[in-house]
Amino acid sequence: MKLIYEKSSPGRSGVQMSSIKISENEEIPAEYLRSQPAELPEVSEAEVVRHFTALSRLNFSVDTHFYPLGSCTMKYNPKACEAAANLPELTGVHPLWPQLRGGGLLTQGSLAILYHTERLLSEATGLDEFTLQPMSGAHGELTGVMIIAAYHKDRGNEKDHIIIPDSAHGTNPASAHLAGYKVVTIPSDSKGVMDFELFKAALNEKTAGVMLTAPNTLGVFNTRIKEICDAVHEVDGLMYYDGANFNAIMGRYRPGDMGFDICHLNLHKSFGTPHGGGGPGAGPVGVAEKLRPYLPISRVVKTNDGTYSLNYDAPKSIGYIAPFYGNFGIVARAYAYLLCLGRDGMLGTSNRAVLNANYLQEKLRPLFDEKYKGRCMHEFVFSGKCLAQYGVHTLDLAKGMIDRGIHPPTIYFPLNVPESFMVEPTETEDRDTLDYFVSVVEELFELAKTDPDKLHEAPVSTPVGRLDEVKAAREMRLVAER
Ligand SMILES: *Cc1c(COP(=O)(O)O)cnc(C)c1O
Repeated sequence: MKLIYEKSSPGRSGVQMSSIKISENEEIPAEYLRSQPAELPEVSEAEVVRHFTALSRLNFSVDTHFYPLGSCTMKYNPKACEAAANLPELTGVHPLWPQLRGGGLLTQGSLAILYHTERLLSEATGLDEFTLQPMSGAHGELTGVMIIAAYHKDRGNEKDHIIIPDSAHGTNPASAHLAGYKVVTIPSDSKGVMDFELFKAALNEKTAGVMLTAPNTLGVFNTRIKEICDAVHEVDGLMYYDGANFNAIMGRYRPGDMGFDICHLNLHKSFGTPHGGGGPGAGPVGVAEKLRPYLPISRVVKTNDGTYSLNYDAPKSIGYIAPFYGNFGIVARAYAYLLCLGRDGMLGTSNRAVLNANYLQEKLRPLFDEKYKGRCMHEFVFSGKCLAQYGVHTLDLAKGMIDRGIHPPTIYFPLNVPESFMVEPTETEDRDTLDYFVSVVEELFELAKTDPDKLHEAPVSTPVGRLDEVKAAREMRLVAER
């Protein structure tokens, strides 16, 4: 079917929007035409509004409830950043518009946002150059490991493996594997960080690099990073910083200063975009100077006359990683967020995140069998194994919270803690909310001792009660019955 583009009147921003219309002289084949008008429900506007408002009230979200979901970081996503990213000057731009002439005036603005966001992220991480193209954390990791591979190939290094601690997010080994490397997994020590002696034993001339998350998924910061970086650089390996937990250290420490060569950040965790529901996201990658030539194309460059353009001339580049320039809307949110916060705001955010997590950890410590003692960073992991004596599991604890108006924390992850219960309170939560959370956990522990069956039945206040997860997995039915 032939489509023609028809110009419509300029929008609020003066942006010329194009609408797609079927050309008048094109006939839709008869077999695709209706014989009867479509049977549409006849309802008033008020009924439609009530229907969708009622549906939206069933949502259990960060806008309605406390949401202490560890690892995924349901943190503060300012509504102001949402509004900024939704300006028609940003949403109305098309990536195929000319960079300079014609639509250039608007394209220049978008390119400037990309350029300046890269500079701000460089500033925040201490790494020399950024690409904003990768569309998720995992995509950023893959980009980063491909850069590691390109670096070694270029230097004629024969490398065959990447070292990753066992507390890493599962995407780390997956990315290393996709880029063609074997993965050497190092167990955690009693403090919850990569065992240093086992790491030293695994490191050799064939080590392409090490992927570290700092603080890691247990909320623990590795205090031997400098030694690890030095040892890895000794064998011409590269240090990769998984920056998904950057909100715990931003404004205080910079991966570049610690000795890392590459990092990815999750804009949809640390910089103003909600995480969850599978995206969209953005996982920008920053690199040290020596890795600049391998960054993906295109690159945003600023020319001497002050204009911006996309540059594709990079013979050593790993090539295309994403169409056009990644998820522009997510970058626009992050740009607004970075400008709002500045360095002091970043420090305030990470301070509050760490303070809130430690407050909860201290309050809850007496209740749980804690494997890792000591202070945490932005999140902490407890084990619910202590409830097993009452026939209660971490799952029951999580379900009981729903009836008390709290979204459950992350459970059964990370895998190296049995019955894990992983809490990450958002930095913007006040003390009353944190105290309420503590009182709910205390109440549920009491219930586990006195009336465990009550907990097995939870949740009872939701439209759908406890699901039979085993049955759901075995007898999956993906089509709704009429
Ligand atoms: C979330 C996360 C990732 C992966 O990010 P995605 O955007 O979900 O692909 C990687 N590492 C850590 C530590 C994470 O928490």
